[in-house]
Amino acid sequence: MLAEKFEQAKFVLKQIEKHHHQAYFVGGCVRDILLRRPIGDIDIATSATPQEIITMFDKVIPVGIEHGTVIVRHQQQSYEVTTFRVDGTYSDQRHPDSVEFIRTIDQDLLRRDFTINALAMDKNGDIIDLFMGKKDLENKVIKTVGNGYNRFNEDPLRIMRALRFSSQLGFSIDLETLDQMKELKQQIETIAVERLATEFTKLFAGEFINHGMEYLKSTDIYKHLPVMVKYPYIIDNLPKKLNSLSSFGQVIALFHSIEPQISILTWVKEWKCSNKIKQEATQLYEAFLHYKNHQLDQWLVYCLNTENYQGFVKIINMFYGRGHVLIEELEQIEQLLPINSKKDLALNGNDLISLFPDVKKGPWIQTYLNLLEQQVVFGNIKNNKNELKDWIRWHPPEIN
Ligand code: ATP
Ligand code: MG
Repeated sequence: MLAEKFEQAKFVLKQIEKHHHQAYFVGGCVRDILLRRPIGDIDIATSATPQEIITMFDKVIPVGIEHGTVIVRHQQQSYEVTTFRVDGTYSDQRHPDSVEFIRTIDQDLLRRDFTINALAMDKNGDIIDLFMGKKDLENKVIKTVGNGYNRFNEDPLRIMRALRFSSQLGFSIDLETLDQMKELKQQIETIAVERLATEFTKLFAGEFINHGMEYLKSTDIYKHLPVMVKYPYIIDNLPKKLNSLSSFGQVIALFHSIEPQISILTWVKEWKCSNKIKQEATQLYEAFLHYKNHQLDQWLVYCLNTENYQGFVKIINMFYGRGHVLIEELEQIEQLLPINSKKDLALNGNDLISLFPDVKKGPWIQTYLNLLEQQVVFGNIKNNKNELKDWIRWHPPEIN
């Protein structure tokens, strides 16, 4: 029985077959359905070229025509449809130099990284399994398609991918494959950092992160990753039991909490992270520090964005033990907060200026507003103009 998601996606296969072409579900989605795991994206491999696919569907987005990939939209869902292909050499360790479109699936499966990712499934649920991928799924083993040495040499990112699949699935890495990973691990340093970051993030997000981390450590692969290449000791300082972390911002916050000497900016630069990740890491680290010094209080919750609650709780519990802080505690405090941001303050800079008309405008205004904000958040003053003014009269700003 195909899951509901596949039922819907079958339309795409049937439509391609109507035009006398072959089409299969491939890669991670087939693996995940056989493992009864939640399915991520549905990828489709086909004998039709991108140009041919464009004529078969109303809505096609050309995302990577030169690599044979388009996105087909059907009933609000997206399907990545890729023409059967063989890859040329990978001289820049980013993309194959060339791809050649072919008309049968066999060689397309041959270019895939691991046996468990080289399965294809037709519209009836029948599986094509040329490399004993199903057996490896049963035995929970990650093994390269073909000679691992050549496959890792061709694209060393696959070394990181093996680690991240072990972390996601809890699988072992085949001993020969593992030896070949160790032999070629230095090649990781040549890979585009953006590609590495995607795999590293997925590694940390894996349900079996401790298992994946064991491999990362025992193979010494981490010594070839950005930042860790210079400061390899930080890996040994990680908490003994890790929680899976759902974003790179959380990962940086964890590492920075362990070793504050390595700045968040260093992490962000070396891993070429976005500004959003930087902000997330910064906010989580500040919350961590506040917790260390003051425990959980209104100010901590006030400064932490709701979407960072989960990351905060995971990081704190890694340091202080499971269940030390619960997300419900943060939510309870949040509900009782009198204001949610400075904008909610019943008094603003202009009010302050009119209260102290003789005092020269300056940075004291901002400093004083910050003080008021804190007093309101802690419930020491009610957030209404009169009470704030009263309080100000008794606590005039100190201006030199
Ligand atoms: P996820 O569920 O995390 O998306 P996935 O197996 O679908 O896992 P993707 O990175 O989405 O992983 O890749 C889709 C498929 O493309 C893989 O299952 C594999 O068959 C193939 N693939 C991806 N990257 C590589 C690579 N670097 N070398 C060889 N094959 C690859
Ligand atoms: Mg995928």
